[in-house]
Amino acid sequence: MTEIVSFDSLGFDDLGLAPQLLKALTESGYTTPTPIQAQAIPVALAGGDLMAGAQTGTGKTAAFALPLLQKLLPLASASASPAKHPVRALILVPTRELAIQVEESVRAYAKHTPLRTLVVYGGVDIKTQTPHLKTGVEVLVATPGRLLDHIEQKTVQLNQVQMLVLDEADRMLDMGFMPDLKRILALLPKQRQNLMFSATFSNEIKKLADEFLTKPLLIEVARSNATNDNVTQKVYQVAQSDKEALLIQLLKAADAKQVIIFTKTKITASRLSRSLAREGIAADAIHGDKTQQERIKALDAFKAGTVTALVATDVAARGLDISELPMVINYEIPSAPEDYVHRIGRTGRAGALGVAISFVSPEEDKYMVEIEKLIKREIAKEVVEIEKTTARPRPASSNKDSSHKPSNTRATQDATATKRLPAKKKTIDPWFDKPYEAVIAQKEVNIRSISTSKAPVAALLGGLRLNK
Ligand code: AMP
Repeated sequence: MTEIVSFDSLGFDDLGLAPQLLKALTESGYTTPTPIQAQAIPVALAGGDLMAGAQTGTGKTAAFALPLLQKLLPLASASASPAKHPVRALILVPTRELAIQVEESVRAYAKHTPLRTLVVYGGVDIKTQTPHLKTGVEVLVATPGRLLDHIEQKTVQLNQVQMLVLDEADRMLDMGFMPDLKRILALLPKQRQNLMFSATFSNEIKKLADEFLTKPLLIEVARSNATNDNVTQKVYQVAQSDKEALLIQLLKAADAKQVIIFTKTKITASRLSRSLAREGIAADAIHGDKTQQERIKALDAFKAGTVTALVATDVAARGLDISELPMVINYEIPSAPEDYVHRIGRTGRAGALGVAISFVSPEEDKYMVEIEKLIKREIAKEVVEIEKTTARPRPASSNKDSSHKPSNTRATQDATATKRLPAKKKTIDPWFDKPYEAVIAQKEVNIRSISTSKAPVAALLGGLRLNK
Protein backbone atom coordinates (compact mmCIF):
# COMPACT_ATOMS: atom_id res chain seq x y z
CA MET A 1 0.00 0.00 0.00
CA THR A 2 1.16 3.52 -0.70
CA GLU A 3 0.98 5.91 2.18
CA ILE A 4 0.19 9.57 1.76
CA VAL A 5 2.00 11.43 4.44
CA SER A 6 0.73 14.93 4.01
CA PHE A 7 -1.58 16.87 1.82
CA ASP A 8 -2.04 20.60 1.72
CA SER A 9 -5.41 21.81 2.80
CA LEU A 10 -7.50 22.97 -0.15
CA GLY A 11 -10.80 24.72 -0.61
CA PHE A 12 -13.83 22.67 -1.71
CA ASP A 13 -13.76 24.42 -5.11
CA ASP A 14 -10.20 23.16 -5.64
CA LEU A 15 -11.36 19.58 -5.34
CA GLY A 16 -13.26 19.69 -8.61
CA LEU A 17 -16.66 19.07 -7.10
CA ALA A 18 -19.81 19.76 -9.10
CA PRO A 19 -21.66 23.07 -8.50
CA GLN A 20 -24.72 21.20 -7.13
CA LEU A 21 -22.55 19.64 -4.44
CA LEU A 22 -20.70 22.86 -3.66
CA LYS A 23 -24.04 24.61 -3.20
CA ALA A 24 -25.16 21.99 -0.70
CA LEU A 25 -21.87 22.29 1.19
CA THR A 26 -22.23 26.04 1.46
CA GLU A 27 -25.77 25.55 2.75
CA SER A 28 -24.45 23.06 5.32
CA GLY A 29 -22.08 25.77 6.52
CA TYR A 30 -18.88 24.03 5.39
CA THR A 31 -16.20 26.42 4.21
CA THR A 32 -13.04 24.32 4.06
CA PRO A 33 -12.52 20.59 3.75
CA THR A 34 -11.35 18.75 6.83
CA PRO A 35 -7.99 16.94 6.43
CA ILE A 36 -9.65 13.60 5.65
CA GLN A 37 -11.83 15.28 3.03
CA ALA A 38 -8.88 17.09 1.44
CA GLN A 39 -7.03 13.78 1.17
CA ALA A 40 -9.75 11.27 0.40
CA ILE A 41 -11.86 13.19 -2.11
CA PRO A 42 -9.21 13.49 -4.87
CA VAL A 43 -8.22 9.83 -4.44
CA ALA A 44 -11.82 8.63 -4.58
CA LEU A 45 -12.60 10.89 -7.55
CA ALA A 46 -9.63 9.39 -9.39
CA GLY A 47 -11.34 6.03 -9.04
CA GLY A 48 -8.96 4.05 -6.87
CA ASP A 49 -9.71 1.96 -3.81
CA LEU A 50 -9.12 3.63 -0.51
CA MET A 51 -8.44 2.60 3.03
CA ALA A 52 -8.81 5.58 5.29
CA GLY A 53 -7.94 5.80 8.95
CA ALA A 54 -10.21 8.44 10.31
CA GLN A 55 -12.05 8.70 13.53
CA THR A 56 -15.63 9.60 13.71
CA GLY A 57 -15.98 13.37 13.96
CA THR A 58 -13.30 14.11 11.39
CA GLY A 59 -15.78 14.69 8.57
CA LYS A 60 -15.31 11.23 7.06
CA THR A 61 -18.93 10.94 5.90
CA ALA A 62 -18.50 13.80 3.44
CA ALA A 63 -15.08 12.39 2.54
CA PHE A 64 -16.77 9.37 0.95
CA ALA A 65 -20.20 10.80 0.18
CA LEU A 66 -19.04 13.72 -1.98
CA PRO A 67 -16.90 11.74 -4.45
CA LEU A 68 -19.55 9.05 -4.53
CA LEU A 69 -22.27 11.53 -5.49
CA GLN A 70 -20.00 13.24 -7.95
CA LYS A 71 -19.30 9.95 -9.71
CA LEU A 72 -22.97 9.05 -9.86
CA LEU A 73 -24.07 12.45 -11.16
CA PRO A 74 -23.64 11.63 -14.87
CA LEU A 75 -25.95 8.64 -14.32
CA ALA A 76 -28.60 10.58 -12.43
CA SER A 77 -32.02 10.51 -13.99
CA ALA A 78 -35.06 12.70 -13.49
CA SER A 79 -37.28 9.86 -14.67
CA ALA A 80 -39.80 8.44 -12.21
CA SER A 81 -39.17 4.90 -13.44
CA PRO A 82 -37.56 2.67 -10.78
CA ALA A 83 -35.47 1.04 -13.50
CA LYS A 84 -33.66 4.35 -13.96
CA HIS A 85 -32.67 4.39 -10.31
CA PRO A 86 -30.82 1.15 -9.54
CA VAL A 87 -28.64 0.90 -6.44
CA ARG A 88 -25.28 2.15 -7.68
CA ALA A 89 -23.61 2.94 -4.36
CA LEU A 90 -23.87 0.83 -1.23
CA ILE A 91 -22.77 2.19 2.12
CA LEU A 92 -22.53 -0.45 4.85
CA VAL A 93 -22.41 0.69 8.45
CA PRO A 94 -22.47 -1.23 11.74
CA THR A 95 -25.41 0.33 13.56
CA ARG A 96 -28.84 1.77 12.93
CA GLU A 97 -27.96 5.13 14.47
CA LEU A 98 -24.96 5.51 12.22
CA ALA A 99 -27.03 4.39 9.24
CA ILE A 100 -29.59 7.10 9.93
CA GLN A 101 -26.95 9.76 10.36
CA VAL A 102 -24.95 8.81 7.31
CA GLU A 103 -28.04 8.78 5.11
CA GLU A 104 -29.10 12.17 6.47
CA SER A 105 -25.71 13.59 5.55
CA VAL A 106 -25.67 12.01 2.09
CA ARG A 107 -29.18 13.31 1.46
CA ALA A 108 -28.14 16.82 2.49
CA TYR A 109 -25.14 16.76 0.13
CA ALA A 110 -27.32 15.35 -2.70
CA LYS A 111 -30.19 17.77 -2.24
CA HIS A 112 -29.54 19.69 -5.47
CA THR A 113 -29.13 16.53 -7.55
CA PRO A 114 -31.77 14.06 -8.80
CA LEU A 115 -29.96 11.22 -6.99
CA ARG A 116 -32.09 9.31 -4.52
CA THR A 117 -30.91 8.00 -1.16
CA LEU A 118 -32.43 5.56 1.30
CA VAL A 119 -31.53 3.96 4.60
CA VAL A 120 -32.49 0.44 5.72
CA TYR A 121 -31.76 -0.97 9.16
CA GLY A 122 -33.09 -3.63 11.49
CA GLY A 123 -35.38 -3.24 14.46
CA VAL A 124 -38.25 -1.83 12.44
CA ASP A 125 -40.84 -3.57 10.29
CA ILE A 126 -39.16 -4.55 7.03
CA LYS A 127 -42.42 -3.95 5.15
CA THR A 128 -42.16 -0.21 5.80
CA GLN A 129 -38.86 -0.13 3.89
CA THR A 130 -39.82 -2.25 0.88
CA PRO A 131 -42.02 0.28 -0.98
CA HIS A 132 -39.25 2.89 -0.78
CA LEU A 133 -36.71 0.41 -2.11
CA LYS A 134 -39.04 -0.48 -4.95
CA THR A 135 -39.26 3.12 -6.15
CA GLY A 136 -35.53 2.93 -6.85
CA VAL A 137 -32.58 4.56 -5.10
CA GLU A 138 -29.04 5.18 -6.27
CA VAL A 139 -27.45 5.41 -2.84
CA LEU A 140 -28.40 2.82 -0.25
CA VAL A 141 -27.16 3.05 3.33
CA ALA A 142 -27.68 -0.21 5.20
CA THR A 143 -26.77 -2.29 8.20
CA PRO A 144 -25.58 -5.72 7.03
CA GLY A 145 -28.28 -7.88 8.66
CA ARG A 146 -31.21 -5.92 7.31
CA LEU A 147 -29.69 -5.69 3.87
CA LEU A 148 -29.43 -9.49 3.81
CA ASP A 149 -33.11 -9.69 4.79
CA HIS A 150 -33.97 -7.52 1.80
CA ILE A 151 -31.75 -9.56 -0.46
CA GLU A 152 -33.50 -12.75 0.68
CA GLN A 153 -36.90 -11.18 0.09
CA LYS A 154 -35.69 -10.03 -3.31
CA THR A 155 -36.68 -6.47 -2.53
CA VAL A 156 -33.27 -5.16 -3.53
CA GLN A 157 -30.90 -5.85 -6.40
CA LEU A 158 -27.22 -5.19 -6.08
CA ASN A 159 -26.00 -6.13 -9.54
CA GLN A 160 -25.41 -2.52 -10.55
CA VAL A 161 -23.41 -1.45 -7.53
CA GLN A 162 -20.29 0.31 -8.70
CA MET A 163 -19.20 1.87 -5.41
CA LEU A 164 -19.00 0.25 -2.01
CA VAL A 165 -18.27 2.04 1.25
CA LEU A 166 -17.48 0.14 4.43
CA ASP A 167 -17.86 2.69 7.17
CA GLU A 168 -16.48 2.03 10.66
CA ALA A 169 -15.10 -1.23 9.40
CA ASP A 170 -13.33 -1.95 12.67
CA ARG A 171 -16.62 -1.87 14.51
CA MET A 172 -18.21 -4.13 11.91
CA LEU A 173 -15.59 -6.72 12.68
CA ASP A 174 -15.95 -6.24 16.44
CA MET A 175 -19.67 -6.78 16.11
CA GLY A 176 -19.20 -10.04 14.25
CA PHE A 177 -20.40 -8.82 10.85
CA MET A 178 -17.65 -10.55 8.90
CA PRO A 179 -19.84 -13.47 7.68
CA ASP A 180 -22.63 -11.07 6.67
CA LEU A 181 -20.15 -8.82 4.88
CA LYS A 182 -18.73 -11.74 2.95
CA ARG A 183 -22.21 -12.81 1.84
CA ILE A 184 -23.06 -9.30 0.69
CA LEU A 185 -19.76 -8.67 -1.07
CA ALA A 186 -20.11 -11.92 -2.98
CA LEU A 187 -23.28 -10.52 -4.57
CA LEU A 188 -21.72 -7.32 -5.82
CA PRO A 189 -20.20 -6.87 -9.28
CA LYS A 190 -16.46 -7.59 -9.17
CA GLN A 191 -15.75 -4.37 -11.04
CA ARG A 192 -16.35 -1.66 -8.49
CA GLN A 193 -14.65 0.97 -6.37
CA ASN A 194 -14.21 0.27 -2.66
CA LEU A 195 -13.76 2.84 0.08
CA MET A 196 -13.09 1.59 3.57
CA PHE A 197 -13.06 3.76 6.69
CA SER A 198 -11.89 2.68 10.10
CA ALA A 199 -11.03 4.53 13.30
CA THR A 200 -8.43 1.96 14.24
CA PHE A 201 -6.06 -0.14 12.15
CA SER A 202 -5.83 -3.55 13.75
CA ASN A 203 -4.30 -6.54 12.01
CA GLU A 204 -7.82 -7.82 11.32
CA ILE A 205 -8.66 -4.59 9.54
CA LYS A 206 -5.55 -4.88 7.41
CA LYS A 207 -6.56 -8.45 6.56
CA LEU A 208 -10.04 -7.28 5.60
CA ALA A 209 -8.52 -4.59 3.40
CA ASP A 210 -6.26 -7.14 1.70
CA GLU A 211 -9.24 -9.36 1.04
CA PHE A 212 -11.72 -6.83 -0.30
CA LEU A 213 -9.78 -3.89 -1.67
CA THR A 214 -7.71 -3.66 -4.82
CA LYS A 215 -4.39 -1.88 -4.42
CA PRO A 216 -5.87 0.57 -1.95
CA LEU A 217 -4.27 3.85 -1.16
CA LEU A 218 -3.82 4.27 2.55
CA ILE A 219 -4.78 7.59 4.06
CA GLU A 220 -4.38 8.44 7.69
CA VAL A 221 -5.33 11.86 8.93
CA ALA A 222 -4.09 11.22 12.41
CA ARG A 223 -1.90 8.45 13.73
CA SER A 224 -4.01 5.33 13.81
CA ASN A 225 -5.45 4.67 17.22
CA ALA A 226 -4.56 8.19 18.22
CA THR A 227 -7.10 10.26 20.06
CA ASN A 228 -8.27 13.63 18.94
CA ASP A 229 -6.04 16.49 20.10
CA ASN A 230 -9.09 18.66 20.68
CA VAL A 231 -10.10 16.43 23.56
CA THR A 232 -8.73 17.05 27.03
CA GLN A 233 -8.53 13.65 28.66
CA LYS A 234 -8.78 13.18 32.39
CA VAL A 235 -8.66 10.19 34.68
CA TYR A 236 -10.31 10.27 38.09
CA GLN A 237 -9.29 7.42 40.33
CA VAL A 238 -12.36 6.38 42.28
CA ALA A 239 -13.78 3.27 43.91
CA GLN A 240 -16.50 1.57 41.88
CA SER A 241 -18.96 2.09 44.74
CA ASP A 242 -18.32 5.84 44.72
CA LYS A 243 -18.77 6.40 41.01
CA GLU A 244 -22.45 7.21 41.13
CA ALA A 245 -21.97 9.87 43.80
CA LEU A 246 -19.07 11.35 41.89
CA LEU A 247 -21.06 11.44 38.68
CA ILE A 248 -24.01 13.20 40.27
CA GLN A 249 -21.74 15.72 41.93
CA LEU A 250 -19.81 16.31 38.77
CA LEU A 251 -22.85 16.79 36.57
CA LYS A 252 -24.37 19.23 39.00
CA ALA A 253 -21.20 21.16 39.73
CA ALA A 254 -20.25 21.44 36.08
CA ASP A 255 -23.79 22.43 35.13
CA ALA A 256 -23.22 20.20 32.17
CA LYS A 257 -25.64 20.68 29.32
CA GLN A 258 -24.84 17.75 27.05
CA VAL A 259 -22.94 14.78 28.36
CA ILE A 260 -22.72 11.20 27.17
CA ILE A 261 -21.96 8.74 29.94
CA PHE A 262 -20.66 5.35 28.91
CA THR A 263 -21.33 2.15 30.80
CA LYS A 264 -20.31 -1.39 29.96
CA THR A 265 -23.71 -2.98 30.35
CA LYS A 266 -27.30 -2.22 29.45
CA ILE A 267 -28.37 -2.86 33.05
CA THR A 268 -25.94 -0.28 34.42
CA ALA A 269 -27.01 2.21 31.75
CA SER A 270 -30.69 1.87 32.70
CA ARG A 271 -30.05 1.90 36.43
CA LEU A 272 -27.76 4.90 36.23
CA SER A 273 -30.12 6.96 34.12
CA ARG A 274 -32.87 6.30 36.68
CA SER A 275 -30.56 7.35 39.54
CA LEU A 276 -29.65 10.55 37.73
CA ALA A 277 -33.30 11.30 37.04
CA ARG A 278 -34.04 10.87 40.76
CA GLU A 279 -31.40 13.52 41.42
CA GLY A 280 -33.18 15.94 39.14
CA ILE A 281 -30.81 15.48 36.22
CA ALA A 282 -32.63 15.12 32.91
CA ALA A 283 -31.26 11.73 31.87
CA ASP A 284 -32.14 8.91 29.55
CA ALA A 285 -30.49 5.66 28.50
CA ILE A 286 -29.75 4.37 25.04
CA HIS A 287 -28.85 0.72 24.60
CA GLY A 288 -29.56 -2.40 22.61
CA ASP A 289 -32.66 -3.42 24.57
CA LYS A 290 -34.43 -0.21 23.69
CA THR A 291 -36.61 -0.16 20.62
CA GLN A 292 -35.49 1.88 17.66
CA GLN A 293 -38.26 4.39 18.40
CA GLU A 294 -37.09 4.75 22.01
CA ARG A 295 -33.51 5.28 20.91
CA ILE A 296 -34.46 7.90 18.34
CA LYS A 297 -36.66 9.65 20.89
CA ALA A 298 -33.84 9.71 23.46
CA LEU A 299 -31.37 10.95 20.88
CA ASP A 300 -33.70 13.67 19.63
CA ALA A 301 -34.36 14.81 23.20
CA PHE A 302 -30.62 14.88 23.83
CA LYS A 303 -29.98 16.88 20.69
CA ALA A 304 -32.80 19.27 21.58
CA GLY A 305 -31.37 19.72 25.08
CA THR A 306 -34.35 18.37 27.03
CA VAL A 307 -32.18 15.43 28.06
CA THR A 308 -28.80 16.62 29.32
CA ALA A 309 -27.23 13.29 30.29
CA LEU A 310 -27.41 10.38 27.88
CA VAL A 311 -26.24 7.11 29.39
CA ALA A 312 -25.10 4.77 26.66
CA THR A 313 -23.48 1.43 26.00
CA ASP A 314 -20.74 1.26 23.37
CA VAL A 315 -22.81 -0.34 20.67
CA ALA A 316 -25.73 2.05 21.06
CA ALA A 317 -23.53 5.12 21.05
CA ARG A 318 -21.67 4.12 17.95
CA GLY A 319 -22.05 6.68 15.22
CA LEU A 320 -23.86 9.27 17.28
CA ASP A 321 -23.11 12.62 15.78
CA ILE A 322 -23.86 15.41 18.12
CA SER A 323 -21.91 18.40 17.01
CA GLU A 324 -19.66 20.02 19.56
CA LEU A 325 -20.52 17.65 22.35
CA PRO A 326 -18.58 19.18 25.23
CA MET A 327 -18.21 16.20 27.55
CA VAL A 328 -17.95 12.45 27.57
CA ILE A 329 -17.72 10.47 30.79
CA ASN A 330 -16.47 6.91 30.92
CA TYR A 331 -18.38 5.67 33.95
CA GLU A 332 -16.86 2.28 33.37
CA ILE A 333 -13.65 1.65 31.45
CA PRO A 334 -13.97 -0.54 28.38
CA SER A 335 -11.91 -3.71 28.36
CA ALA A 336 -11.22 -3.27 24.62
CA PRO A 337 -8.96 -0.21 24.35
CA GLU A 338 -10.29 0.66 20.87
CA ASP A 339 -13.67 1.34 22.46
CA TYR A 340 -12.05 4.13 24.45
CA VAL A 341 -10.94 5.79 21.21
CA HIS A 342 -14.43 5.48 19.79
CA ARG A 343 -16.05 6.77 22.95
CA ILE A 344 -13.99 9.88 23.27
CA GLY A 345 -14.45 10.50 19.55
CA ARG A 346 -17.96 11.65 20.51
CA THR A 347 -16.47 14.88 21.80
CA GLY A 348 -14.12 17.40 20.24
CA ARG A 349 -15.77 16.78 16.89
CA ALA A 350 -15.04 18.81 13.77
CA GLY A 351 -12.62 21.11 15.53
CA ALA A 352 -14.66 21.77 18.68
CA LEU A 353 -13.03 21.36 22.08
CA GLY A 354 -14.12 18.59 24.40
CA VAL A 355 -13.42 16.92 27.71
CA ALA A 356 -13.34 13.16 28.22
CA ILE A 357 -13.34 12.05 31.84
CA SER A 358 -12.72 8.45 32.86
CA PHE A 359 -13.75 7.12 36.25
CA VAL A 360 -11.16 4.45 36.93
CA SER A 361 -11.55 2.04 39.84
CA PRO A 362 -8.52 0.07 41.06
CA GLU A 363 -9.92 -2.99 39.26
CA GLU A 364 -9.92 -1.03 36.00
CA ASP A 365 -6.31 0.20 36.19
CA LYS A 366 -5.25 -2.63 33.91
CA TYR A 367 -7.60 -1.43 31.15
CA MET A 368 -6.23 2.08 31.45
CA VAL A 369 -2.69 0.74 30.98
CA GLU A 370 -3.79 -0.88 27.69
CA ILE A 371 -5.58 2.30 26.59
CA GLU A 372 -2.51 4.44 27.23
CA LYS A 373 -0.43 1.97 25.24
CA LEU A 374 -2.87 2.20 22.33
CA ILE A 375 -3.12 5.99 22.27
CA LYS A 376 0.60 6.31 22.99
CA ARG A 377 -0.09 8.89 25.63
CA GLU A 378 -0.17 8.94 29.41
CA ILE A 379 -3.17 10.63 30.99
CA ALA A 380 -2.65 12.48 34.26
CA LYS A 381 -4.38 10.72 37.16
CA GLU A 382 -6.36 12.68 39.65
CA VAL A 383 -7.33 11.27 43.00
CA VAL A 384 -10.96 11.58 43.96
CA GLU A 385 -11.99 11.77 47.52
CA ILE A 386 -15.62 11.43 48.42
CA GLU A 387 -17.17 12.42 51.69
CA LYS A 388 -20.29 10.33 51.92
CA THR A 389 -22.85 11.74 54.22
CA THR A 390 -25.78 9.65 53.10
CA ALA A 391 -23.89 6.45 52.75
CA ARG A 392 -25.40 3.25 53.99
CA PRO A 393 -24.21 2.33 57.49
CA ARG A 394 -20.76 0.88 57.34
CA PRO A 395 -19.51 -1.99 59.46
CA ALA A 396 -18.73 -1.04 63.05
CA SER A 397 -15.05 -1.27 62.34
CA SER A 398 -15.16 1.51 59.81
CA ASN A 399 -13.32 4.71 60.53
CA LYS A 400 -15.49 7.67 61.20
CA ASP A 401 -13.91 10.98 60.52
CA SER A 402 -15.41 13.45 62.92
CA SER A 403 -13.22 16.25 61.66
CA HIS A 404 -15.32 16.57 58.56
CA LYS A 405 -18.44 18.57 59.19
CA PRO A 406 -20.85 18.66 56.32
CA SER A 407 -23.36 21.45 56.08
CA ASN A 408 -26.68 21.17 57.85
CA THR A 409 -28.87 19.41 55.34
CA ARG A 410 -31.17 16.46 54.98
CA ALA A 411 -28.09 14.58 54.06
CA THR A 412 -26.32 15.50 57.26
CA GLN A 413 -29.26 14.49 59.35
CA ASP A 414 -29.28 11.14 57.62
CA ALA A 415 -25.58 10.75 57.89
CA THR A 416 -24.50 7.54 59.40
CA ALA A 417 -20.98 7.26 58.13
CA THR A 418 -18.19 9.17 56.53
CA LYS A 419 -15.86 7.59 54.10
CA ARG A 420 -12.65 8.78 52.60
CA LEU A 421 -11.17 7.34 49.50
CA PRO A 422 -8.28 6.95 49.36
CA ALA A 423 -6.35 7.83 52.52
CA LYS A 424 -5.73 11.55 52.65
CA LYS A 425 -2.58 12.65 50.90
CA LYS A 426 -0.98 16.03 51.08
CA THR A 427 -2.13 18.09 48.16
CA ILE A 428 0.19 20.28 46.20
CA ASP A 429 -2.09 23.23 45.67
CA PRO A 430 -3.67 24.82 48.78
CA TRP A 431 -6.79 25.46 46.71
CA PHE A 432 -7.59 21.80 47.07
CA ASP A 433 -7.35 21.94 50.86
CA LYS A 434 -10.00 24.61 51.13
CA PRO A 435 -13.37 23.31 52.29
CA TYR A 436 -15.39 22.35 49.31
CA GLU A 437 -18.80 23.93 49.01
CA ALA A 438 -21.03 21.31 47.57
CA VAL A 439 -23.76 22.22 45.15
CA ILE A 440 -25.78 19.31 46.43
CA ALA A 441 -25.46 18.33 50.00
CA GLN A 442 -25.79 14.58 49.98
CA LYS A 443 -22.23 13.88 49.10
CA GLU A 444 -19.18 15.99 48.80
CA VAL A 445 -16.39 15.38 46.43
CA ASN A 446 -12.84 16.55 46.43
CA ILE A 447 -10.81 16.06 43.37
CA ARG A 448 -7.18 16.57 43.99
CA SER A 449 -5.11 16.88 40.95
CA ILE A 450 -1.66 15.43 40.90
CA SER A 451 -0.71 18.38 38.79
CA THR A 452 -1.06 21.89 40.19
CA SER A 453 -4.18 23.45 38.85
CA LYS A 454 -6.12 26.47 40.00
CA ALA A 455 -9.08 25.82 37.82
CA PRO A 456 -12.49 26.73 39.19
CA VAL A 457 -14.61 23.77 40.23
CA ALA A 458 -16.64 23.60 37.03
CA ALA A 459 -13.55 23.70 34.89
CA LEU A 460 -11.73 21.22 37.10
CA LEU A 461 -14.67 18.92 36.75
CA GLY A 462 -14.48 19.30 33.02
CA GLY A 463 -17.06 22.04 33.03
CA LEU A 464 -18.10 23.90 30.02
CA ARG A 465 -15.29 26.43 30.06
CA LEU A 466 -12.99 24.33 28.03
CA ASN A 467 -9.60 25.89 28.46
CA LYS A 468 -6.97 23.54 27.28
P1 AMP B 1 -18.40 12.88 10.51
O1 AMP B 1 -17.01 12.56 10.94
O2 AMP B 1 -18.62 12.63 9.08
O3 AMP B 1 -19.41 12.20 11.39
O4 AMP B 1 -18.62 14.47 10.69
C1 AMP B 1 -18.62 15.08 11.94
C2 AMP B 1 -19.31 16.43 11.91
O5 AMP B 1 -18.54 17.37 11.19
C3 AMP B 1 -20.69 16.43 11.28
O6 AMP B 1 -21.55 17.19 12.11
C4 AMP B 1 -20.50 17.12 9.96
O7 AMP B 1 -21.66 17.79 9.56
C5 AMP B 1 -19.36 18.08 10.26
N1 AMP B 1 -18.50 18.39 9.10
C6 AMP B 1 -18.06 17.53 8.17
N2 AMP B 1 -17.28 18.14 7.27
C7 AMP B 1 -17.21 19.45 7.63
C8 AMP B 1 -16.53 20.60 7.09
N3 AMP B 1 -15.76 20.52 6.02
N4 AMP B 1 -16.69 21.76 7.72
C9 AMP B 1 -17.47 21.83 8.83
N5 AMP B 1 -18.13 20.79 9.39
C10 AMP B 1 -18.00 19.61 8.81
